[in-house]
Amino acid sequence: MLSDIEIAQNAKMLKIKDIAKELGIDEEELIPYGHYKAKISQECIDRLESKEDGKLILVTAINPTPAGEGKTTTSVGLAEGMYKIGKKAVLALREPSLGPVFGIKGGAAGGGYAQVVPMEDINLHFTGDMHAITSANNLLCALIDNHIQQGNVLGIDPRRIQIKRCLDMNDRALRNCIIGLGGKVNGVPREDHFQITVASEIMAILCLADDLVDLKARLSRILVAYTYDGKPVFASDVEAVGAMTALLKDAINPNLVQTLENTPAIIHGGPFANIAHGCNSVRATKLALKLGDYAITEAGFGSDLGAEKFFDIKCRYAGLKPSCTVIVATIRALKYNGGVPKTELTAENTEALKKGIVNLGAHIENMRKYGVPAVVAINHFYTDTEAEIAIVREYCEKMGAKVAFSDVFLKGGEGGIELANAVIDTINENEGKTNFAPIYDEKLSIKEKLDIIVREIYRADGVSYTTGAEKAIKEIEAIGFDKLPVCVAKTQYSLSDDPTKLGCPKDFTITVRDVKLSAGAGFVVALTGDIMTMPGLPKVPAANKIDVSADGEISGLF
Ligand code: ADP
Ligand code: MG
Repeated sequence: MLSDIEIAQNAKMLKIKDIAKELGIDEEELIPYGHYKAKISQECIDRLESKEDGKLILVTAINPTPAGEGKTTTSVGLAEGMYKIGKKAVLALREPSLGPVFGIKGGAAGGGYAQVVPMEDINLHFTGDMHAITSANNLLCALIDNHIQQGNVLGIDPRRIQIKRCLDMNDRALRNCIIGLGGKVNGVPREDHFQITVASEIMAILCLADDLVDLKARLSRILVAYTYDGKPVFASDVEAVGAMTALLKDAINPNLVQTLENTPAIIHGGPFANIAHGCNSVRATKLALKLGDYAITEAGFGSDLGAEKFFDIKCRYAGLKPSCTVIVATIRALKYNGGVPKTELTAENTEALKKGIVNLGAHIENMRKYGVPAVVAINHFYTDTEAEIAIVREYCEKMGAKVAFSDVFLKGGEGGIELANAVIDTINENEGKTNFAPIYDEKLSIKEKLDIIVREIYRADGVSYTTGAEKAIKEIEAIGFDKLPVCVAKTQYSLSDDPTKLGCPKDFTITVRDVKLSAGAGFVVALTGDIMTMPGLPKVPAANKIDVSADGEISGLF
């Protein structure tokens, strides 16, 4: 089989203006970035305002193996499958970060015969959104340090600066650093930290903002520091917001590309799914709902992180009402959850599969708690055996969940028809019967909200807090930001906060070690375990295999 990039480079792409035309987007509403990618203007969004929305489909997954279980791949193949049966579907996906592209995981443009293209562009600089976000974030940091340098009228305590500089790269050496060394003219020395751009609050804000006005309001509310006497300092206090908005003015507009089979795809915004809410921008999802009869979107990691935040943060803020959830399961990951080591996942092992399948069961039950019907997609790997596939089908049927075999990695849209039909049938059967609601009321206290998430979604017995976390909660309550949704930063490998507890762990509690306020994004982050906001590169980074030929063709991306 050809590699992902070889398949992508063989694609017969249509000009982006033709993809847009097919969607009913006027030429003046399209801002082309070359021939195959474009931004969609505010005028187009405004024009479609009164149009009826299509149906919203969320693609989520079980707890994954470190390689990812194929949510993007399945989303792309599902959209293509829908086109094959004559349904107008529009994708809304996240923009890849350079961190994983050059690290372990590779890009995030789907895989095999279910990819979005131009794959190299999407994975690398794309339309410059990451650059704009990085610049806006670092401008804010520069203004804060300059404020301190120029006399510090606000009395900012350099030891209590909340905002970090960022870079879209896995670069562990920047996690902890000292800035401002070199004497009086070179700044005030202090400890600083970098995080990866996709973990920044600016990225989360861009993804939740409705329009430029809302973007500005959210940027203004970013808590940047505390003063020496413990008062909060916001981005508006350092007069950063106008210039930051100027940097983000184009980045806020959704990007249009296509799949290998010329199905339209909007790719916009990509916050981390642990520290942030993990889904593409609200503007992209809403636009996909206007442009298609079906909008297909993805939320990062397993449903305990991605779908929970999609429902409880994104849908709550944007007033979205999902019609169906697709839970991507792979036989590999179910065996992994049944205790098989990463290196032995290709061999048939029905016993381990039967043991690990409880993980899928938990995700099915969890999704039902939101009042949205779920379909299980078995993302087919060529190593899966008939016996193994039969076990998964039988288990889902026993649970009363629709299940579809998805062969989109090998066959593209053709391999997505069974899933497309299952999704459409589910939506039709439940028409008027779904009653989506977030799982907690945001007016509850931070601890009450966390208690509901950990009991209902992680199936834990409760939460314990470190002294630091207790103190942080009190501080957030004192400044009046405790009535926001909660965003839990947790390992993606387990329903619990311990990556080694696989399957459906029981008899455990979740430890919250710190709580941070993302007042601009509009959520409170509860940190469990050791969550990296600046990942490192592995021993052999993917970057080592990437090259460019004399005529400019890139190889080695995946
Ligand atoms: P996620 O969105 O869940 O992180 P992706 O769709 O990005 O997962 O897939 C992760 C990786 O696994 C990609 O490199 C992709 O090419 C590969 N992959 C996905 N599905 C399959 C499959 N059915 N067979 C082989 N490789 C696959
Ligand atoms: Mg993905």
